[in-house]
Amino acid sequence: MKHIARKRFGQNFLHDASAIAAIVDAIAPKPGDALVEIGPGLGALTRPLCEQLGRVTVVEIDRDLAARLRNDPQLQVIESDVLRVDFEQLSEDMGAINGLRIVGNLPYNVSTPILFHLLGFAHRVRDQHFMLQKEVVQRMVASAGSSEFSRLSVMLQWRYAMEYVLDVGPECFDPAPRVNSAVVRMTPLTAAPDVNPKRLSELVQVAFSQRRKLMRNTLGPWLDQEGFSGTFDLQRRAQEVSVAEYVGLAGQLDTTGDLKPR
Ligand code: SAM
Repeated sequence: MKHIARKRFGQNFLHDASAIAAIVDAIAPKPGDALVEIGPGLGALTRPLCEQLGRVTVVEIDRDLAARLRNDPQLQVIESDVLRVDFEQLSEDMGAINGLRIVGNLPYNVSTPILFHLLGFAHRVRDQHFMLQKEVVQRMVASAGSSEFSRLSVMLQWRYAMEYVLDVGPECFDPAPRVNSAVVRMTPLTAAPDVNPKRLSELVQVAFSQRRKLMRNTLGPWLDQEGFSGTFDLQRRAQEVSVAEYVGLAGQLDTTGDLKPR
């Protein structure tokens, strides 16, 4: 029976054979990889991945799609919202001694919450390959100083090395989305700085709250309120500050934070 795409689950199914082959090539699955696919849908990526790996774990929220996928003995199907999946436990269950490989053509309506959810499990991950809205990928990989550099760039780049992999046009999907798509590779940094992600997130949110203004009008008052007594050049716009500087500032704030009841 033909599946009718559900908008609420961000269902745009890949059907273009060369796009599918290019994505699977970029993932480069190797036997023994502990691979998890988020949102397998009708299996466009799952099938070629399975051919190379023999076994793939998939997380699918749509009950009808999950039921179809269960017919394939090569798949371990987790019927769930991926935001509820404990990847720490999953990594244990899968015996992923070399880290999980996580892939997916993500539902665009929840792609950012999924990225933030996975951030908490980065220590269990070898790499992630995701297809997302092209604009989002551009923000994820943007360097300080560029117009796409944003909160998302900082919040992901302190933890992962990012690579823009390839573009995929709307014609490669059914139904075709209204936006262009791109694939990104995210590799957790082995020597990621020791920072409190909540602190960093608060700081970056304030810094980027009025991205066209100098930070002395936004971050300045907030730093005062937090009892910050160090030096930080606020005569800049948020997008001119490097990831390392944000991380450094968050670290200093945490030290000040110990002195201050929160
Ligand atoms: N991988 C398939 C492909 O490339 O053709 C489908 C991709 S489609 C853009 C997104 C998939 O994610 C759908 O199968 C959808 O049901 C599933 N999905 C949506 N929200 C989800 C969630 N919160 N947790 C798990 N899967 C979800």
